[in-house]
Amino acid sequence: MEKVQCLIIGSGPAGYSAAIYTSRANLKNVLFEGIQPGGQLTQTTTIENYAGFPVGIDGQQLMAQMRQQAVNVGADVRSGIITDIDLTKRPFTATTDAGSQIQADTVIVATGASAKYLGLDDEKKYSGMGVSACATCDGFFYRRRVVAVVGGGDTACEEAHYLSNLASKVYMIVRKDYLRASAAMQKRVMEKDNIEILFNTNTVGLFGENGVEGAHLVRFKGTDREEPFDIAIDGFFLAIGHKPNTDFLAGQLTLDQAGYIVTDLATTATSVPGVFAAGDVADPRYRQAIVAAGSGCRAALDVEKFLAEQ
Ligand code: NDP
Repeated sequence: MEKVQCLIIGSGPAGYSAAIYTSRANLKNVLFEGIQPGGQLTQTTTIENYAGFPVGIDGQQLMAQMRQQAVNVGADVRSGIITDIDLTKRPFTATTDAGSQIQADTVIVATGASAKYLGLDDEKKYSGMGVSACATCDGFFYRRRVVAVVGGGDTACEEAHYLSNLASKVYMIVRKDYLRASAAMQKRVMEKDNIEILFNTNTVGLFGENGVEGAHLVRFKGTDREEPFDIAIDGFFLAIGHKPNTDFLAGQLTLDQAGYIVTDLATTATSVPGVFAAGDVADPRYRQAIVAAGSGCRAALDVEKFLAEQ
């Protein structure tokens, strides 16, 4: 069976930074890109808060450059998904979606997080037919149409703002009576004439013949002022946060209540010696690309130290 010193799972800023550092430390590594090569940044537009790019950089371009840099310094970057991993004994054994197995002395889990859905049956029914969790991926299809964005955080505001430049009208469906987003993001949304915010509103269903034609909403749900109403829309965008991608670990690492990997306070060590975690999969707090990149570096240095001590 193929054996490496460090298996890196995930290809966001954390995974690629870990690959760059482990390669430069002359460790035999392999990185599996996972379900979404390049990670969440490939789904955004310009990134303006990653230091080193004074006029911003396109998300896809940034990730392509990180990948190229990792390859240039010797990282073994492969497409493929780790579907199973046995962390009960070292070396650890991972299985890919192609059915091959690989052994690793250490593992860096950098699988990130994925968009959350409301859990409505209609979200599945209209998946790819008007329901999306990525405005920058799918917004193009809604030029001069009417769309709704669910959520009141920074992501929702960013997506609503982006869509408002394409669509004729954007509803924001916000369950509370305020936006959770930063003041700057709120201002950008408030300044757009074609964004209408529906506060205190929940979505209970979607309708349409061959795709989304509207949403069933309820204002003041669960109170005596409850008021059901419908809106006509062509697209329904979810922006209600993310869920860490930890299912494939099958309970072998200690997770917090929301499913994030718990790491040692001072390092990236997880509950299993030799397994480290970096990026959004272990970060319920910051969830920023630059933080993820930094934690990928930390994980690689932790791997180097761990192997040296063995
Ligand atoms: P957040 O957790 O900040 O916001 C989620 C939003 O979705 C909240 O308004 C929440 O409502 C709502 N929501 C959650 N679950 C449901 C549900 N079941 N039904 C209806 N509404 C729901 O997530 P974000 O993805 O917006 O942001 C994550 C992090 O990334 C934050 O730290 C954010 O600041 C950061 N970020 C920064 C950006 C930037 O600086 N440019 C851009 C994007 C994200 P409620 O308030 O009621 O809980």
